[in-house]
Amino acid sequence: MQVRLFRPSVGEEELGRIREAFERGWIGLGPLVSQFEAEWTKYIGSAGSVAVNSGTAALQLALAAYDFPAGKKVLVPAITFMSTATAALTNRLEPVFVDVDRETLGLDLDDLERKCTPDCVAVMAVHMGGHPLPMERLLEFARARRLIVVEDCAHCAGGEYHGRKLGTWGDFGCFSFEEKKSMTTGDGGMIVSNDLARLEPLRAHRWVGIDKDTWKRVEGYTASGDADPMHWYYEIAVLGYKYNMNDLCAAIGLEQLKKLDRFNARRREIIARYLRGIAGLRRVGPLLPYALEGAAYWMFGVRCDERDKLILHLKRREIATGVHYMPLPLHPIFKDHHEPIPVAREVWKTLVTLPLFPDLTDAEVDYVVQGLKEFEAAG
Ligand SMILES: *Cc1c(COP(=O)(O)O)cnc(C)c1O
Repeated sequence: MQVRLFRPSVGEEELGRIREAFERGWIGLGPLVSQFEAEWTKYIGSAGSVAVNSGTAALQLALAAYDFPAGKKVLVPAITFMSTATAALTNRLEPVFVDVDRETLGLDLDDLERKCTPDCVAVMAVHMGGHPLPMERLLEFARARRLIVVEDCAHCAGGEYHGRKLGTWGDFGCFSFEEKKSMTTGDGGMIVSNDLARLEPLRAHRWVGIDKDTWKRVEGYTASGDADPMHWYYEIAVLGYKYNMNDLCAAIGLEQLKKLDRFNARRREIIARYLRGIAGLRRVGPLLPYALEGAAYWMFGVRCDERDKLILHLKRREIATGVHYMPLPLHPIFKDHHEPIPVAREVWKTLVTLPLFPDLTDAEVDYVVQGLKEFEAAG
């Protein structure tokens, strides 16, 4: 039995929406993007949303919203996906790596307080694997130090913390709809905020600097009652990128959003099955302190002191595994970063990601658990 690590759950509903877009003859930035933004805003409970073509673009634009002076610093957890840190670099800001909490793999708030200097302007709050950061303490510290809080919600779409959706706690929330994530649009992302004065200008930043939606202008091209000969006019006042979502992705997103709560519920069910399966094993233990109430965990995994042996053991049984993530300062691009991150440097060597996606069957989960039990017995 071959078991994949991740697999998008897409079907006829998404295909139907794509067909509608084809028939409308509009597949770029268009009405479906606006509709997806409106429904996302309602679902998340933010004041607004801006759809982009990746989570990476979302993080980059969230920081761009503040136009920080070049050279200022951004606090970033040592264990996260590379884009969390490169969002600082592309804004000419410098990441400062903060160690992770040994249990949750999220930002260690004691280390955050130690590493924060007057040059720091923002903190990238990654809810690692879907496990929520303690937002009350983080926000209290950030407010006192005038730090902007960007929540990286790439792992927790739909997740709640103390009854409120993740992504709405900080100044900005950034989501990824990459194919492996909690829900997908192929590639895509969303920026949410309650600060519309900061959020709305990002519509121009994502669309090469143009502050009007082309699809709305186009309606004016042929409106016979429209006496405006300048319907083609736009001005560029800001540096923009080509980061917009398009209507094909939004078509998929609209249907995926309807399924998101179900996806998250199924993920919780699978995690509970895994946890029951591995309870009592000594050579492998759960990756995170999974607290399944209200949370939306994107990832399941284990910790194992003999990581490579376990990965090979599972590979022989055709079970896919991963490692999320090697600490960012171990990448050559950050070779000059020497901030102490002792916990990250130690724990990452034990991390093993296991298969988790909504269409994973109970039989497949049991097969993976069987593999883990064999590994335990062989030790
Ligand atoms: C996937 C991911 C991103 C980037 O999202 P893309 O849509 O792939 O650009 C950012 N941060 C984290 C933590 C991620 O896992």
